[in-house]
Amino acid sequence: MKLVNTFIYLSITITAFNCSNQPKNNFPAVFANKETEPVISGIGDDAADDPAIWVNPSNPEISYIIGTDKKKGLAVYNLDGKIVSFNPVGRVNNVDIQDDFEFGNNKFPLVGASNRSDSSLTFLQLKDNGELLEIPQQKIKCDIGDVYGFCFYHNIKTNITYAFVSGKGGKVEQWELKVIEGELIPKLVRVLSLPSQIEGMVADAENEVIYIAEEDFGIWRYDANIDGTNQPEKIKNTSPSENKNIVDDIEGLSMYFQPNGKGYLIASSQGNDSYAIFNREYPNNYIGSFAIKDSIVDGVQETDGIHVTSSPVGNSYPQGLLIVQDGFNYDGETKTSQNFKIVDWRMIQKTMKIR
Ligand code: CA
Ligand code: CA
Ligand code: CA
Ligand code: CA
Ligand code: CA
Ligand code: CA
Repeated sequence: MKLVNTFIYLSITITAFNCSNQPKNNFPAVFANKETEPVISGIGDDAADDPAIWVNPSNPEISYIIGTDKKKGLAVYNLDGKIVSFNPVGRVNNVDIQDDFEFGNNKFPLVGASNRSDSSLTFLQLKDNGELLEIPQQKIKCDIGDVYGFCFYHNIKTNITYAFVSGKGGKVEQWELKVIEGELIPKLVRVLSLPSQIEGMVADAENEVIYIAEEDFGIWRYDANIDGTNQPEKIKNTSPSENKNIVDDIEGLSMYFQPNGKGYLIASSQGNDSYAIFNREYPNNYIGSFAIKDSIVDGVQETDGIHVTSSPVGNSYPQGLLIVQDGFNYDGETKTSQNFKIVDWRMIQKTMKIR
């Protein structure tokens, strides 16, 4: 009896540790410079999910971060993390931004999101003042069950933009986005299929490639073009079984672009509170992993979505920045609603000894 009690006590203790701020890895640490205001959805809710950033070309200090509150809508934050606007578009899970989208005679940053309220895609215009305006669009229904992951791909040669959306069952739809008579008309052009749940996706437009993360299994590399092969290539050392530094789920994917095809593919390794870095160049070799630990801003646990940019973002981020979702947001000892953290890329560069 006593043994049983001890066992129960131990189990409770271990469970409690898993939910708390205890580090799950010994990776090199970086620290967040800023954090956004918490999402509106309540404490304890899994609500913040995925970020994107629009870097303002004429005034980088006034750039905007967009984050999903997957119970309510899209929030726009400034670089200090303050909410600039909120649009209650529904249960949006993942978000991405396509710069300079041509809409008739107009050009603007197009924001796209997978919307679980009605298993559709939602598109909005990001305005100069940080407001999100729903644009005229043909509402489409995705045929992949519950919509989940989302990213854009822009074919530089044809100047056509595509939306990739994944479902929990392992299917991915590729939609061509056309503007006809003042309305955005998505057209389904391709369906990809993997055995299990997919969320994180990112396109490398220069190389015409899309990376897709199967959450429990690893990262795949696909031809992003509709006439390309539907046969993916598995990237080495991206699965928990091959690489002990990666613990499922493999969540957000993002790419740090550098000139001449160089740069890095970053993946959120949710199960051990860390981020894995791979070369952008084929065959995407694994470089190492890091974590975001407590400083003036609390450290980061169980990250879902991430977004990295190599564009200079004002004086504070001359080499760009990384934004990540934080599953357990603390202010001091107090747990509050989830949010997003911002890390200066120079700290990652220095800590990981990469260029
Ligand atoms: Ca989560
Ligand atoms: Ca995103
Ligand atoms: Ca997920
Ligand atoms: Ca945290
Ligand atoms: Ca997620
Ligand atoms: Ca905090």
